Amino acid sequence: MARVAIVTGGTRGIGEAISLALQEKGVTVAANYGGNDEKAREFTERTGIKAFKWDVGDFDACAAGVAEVEAALGPVDIVVNNAGITRDGTILKMSRDMWEDVIRINLGGCFNMAHATFPGMRSRKWGRIVNIGSINGQAGQYGQVNYAAAKSGIHGFTKALAQEGARAGVTVNAIAPGYIDTDMVAAVPAEVLEKIVAKIPVGRLGQATEIARGVTFLCSEEGGFVTGSTLSINGGQHMY
Ligand code: NDP
Repeated sequence: MARVAIVTGGTRGIGEAISLALQEKGVTVAANYGGNDEKAREFTERTGIKAFKWDVGDFDACAAGVAEVEAALGPVDIVVNNAGITRDGTILKMSRDMWEDVIRINLGGCFNMAHATFPGMRSRKWGRIVNIGSINGQAGQYGQVNYAAAKSGIHGFTKALAQEGARAGVTVNAIAPGYIDTDMVAAVPAEVLEKIVAKIPVGRLGQATEIARGVTFLCSEEGGFVTGSTLSINGGQHMY
């Protein structure tokens, strides 16, 4: 695939695995990140993948970031909206800032990145957008009204934008991961995590590479007939 991709939050966790999997398929990857310069530097040294820092929750920063990537690597064909945060708490303890940060970054980031890249994909008659949702956007989760709302919004956003891209060769899909072994899940208290794993039919956490394989399929030529879909990769957890 001689294509150019941006992976948001692409320097660690699930995003890192996605960046590497796309690179392995011959895609030129730009890995965006939010603030962890040290990790981004280590990632670029190790992989040769260029890292670009901007806040996906900032509309203007996304437009400027995409322009910077295109100047360095060429027109963007693939966007993986993977950057995401959690700010958990029951609604009684959830401040307005906790709500707004999660909606702005997790859901607003998808809009900001699509706004900056979709017109180019459309005019070149080829594009792939993959949005990383969550099982908690499908099923809800105690203490996560902000995160579940943002991720659920991603699934609706995906189906709507897919309709706008369909005739122009631009597919838009989502992946809804279950619990994946990354820093985000490491932040869940051990006793809570134990209960979560007990409910996963395959009996373990997922690996970031297992999400990345789904992304490379959706971004491939062969994936061109798949659009507006959500691929659940969660060890069977969606059955409960
Ligand atoms: P991590 O916390 O390990 O990594 C998050 C990544 O997002 C980092 O690269 C971080 O950059 C980046 N990021 C955060 N905020 C911003 C921002 N404002 N602008 C640009 N980049 C930002 O997360 P995971 O790898 O676990 O999760 C990746 C995605 O998968 C998220 O959308 C998450 O919601 C989703 N997901 C994860 C699951 C899991 O079990 N881990 C389950 C279901 C969904 P930096 O390194 O600079 O901080």
